[in-house]
Amino acid sequence: MKDNFGREINYLRVSVTQRCNLNCLYCGSGSPDLAEMTVDEISRFVKAFAQCGINKVRITGGEPLLRTDIVEIVSALSEIQGIEKLVLTTNGVYLKKYAGDLKKAGLSAVNISIDALDREKYKLLTGRDCLPQVLESIDEAERAELKIRVNAVLIKGQNDDQAGSLIELAKDRKIDVRFIELMPFSDTGKNEKMIVKGNEILERFPFLKPVQSKKTGFEQSVARYYEAVGFRGRIGLITPVSDKFCDNCNRIRLLSDGKVRLCLGHDDVIDLRRCSDDNLLEVVKAAIMSKPKGHEFNCGYANSHAMNKIGG
Ligand code: SAM
Repeated sequence: MKDNFGREINYLRVSVTQRCNLNCLYCGSGSPDLAEMTVDEISRFVKAFAQCGINKVRITGGEPLLRTDIVEIVSALSEIQGIEKLVLTTNGVYLKKYAGDLKKAGLSAVNISIDALDREKYKLLTGRDCLPQVLESIDEAERAELKIRVNAVLIKGQNDDQAGSLIELAKDRKIDVRFIELMPFSDTGKNEKMIVKGNEILERFPFLKPVQSKKTGFEQSVARYYEAVGFRGRIGLITPVSDKFCDNCNRIRLLSDGKVRLCLGHDDVIDLRRCSDDNLLEVVKAAIMSKPKGHEFNCGYANSHAMNKIGG
């Protein structure tokens, strides 16, 4: 359905946990709230969203693969009428174990977050020495025929030297590698000097040439894509800070405790756990209608939550 500003809202991001097994420099802070939705709650709420025109769901967190019932969650969501595309974002540490079962349960694609391909640097950024597991998970996801994208956040002076090797991942494999600008969540993110803007990447890698986007519906993406001669995958730039895309925003978020968050840049939430079966659909419709026009990210931005709590 369309919101108050005429935007077609068809994409729901569902956080299934605030827990994470990594401790990324710019992401998590504070202890997680454990009031996680059950599979039945997730299914009940997503059904209401599907009745309002949501056709794409991304499962995220925290780290969604910490939920031991993750395959059950995917299976339940894949059975909901109207959900045509079901995808998941993960740090990849446990993906090797789950890739085949997730695919069988109805998952079509995974976004894997990797901010460095240098093992020591990965360890410094995430607090864990898990890069080898993540790379094995990519191989397993390929074997399971899941579509793969790699997402990276570059931070000045920390891992901006990793951009070239991350781009190389798209050379021989059909993997899109996307760079997301650091957003002002957590203390690191609030320091504007740390952000590597999309344009800086294009200046450093002039062989990247824009791809014309023909995508519509749930295929439409917030990333601007670039290609390079001889590369099988593409390079994407996601620029929420230097070039925000609120006018085309098609998404809404369901947090791990059953609250709806309408915009990444606004803290207001609506608690679906308080809804009865009689008023759930009306509350979801009203929530979509009240999605804000947009947000401003700047250094003084006072967001009270880190990404692991909102669901990145
Ligand atoms: N654990 C999963 C993962 O690592 O992909 C899913 C949750 S994580 C919060 C989702 C994405 O949010 C990751 O790609 C992470 O890099 C990104 N993220 C977290 N904090 C961010 C920030 N301040 N700015 C930009 N991206 C951020």
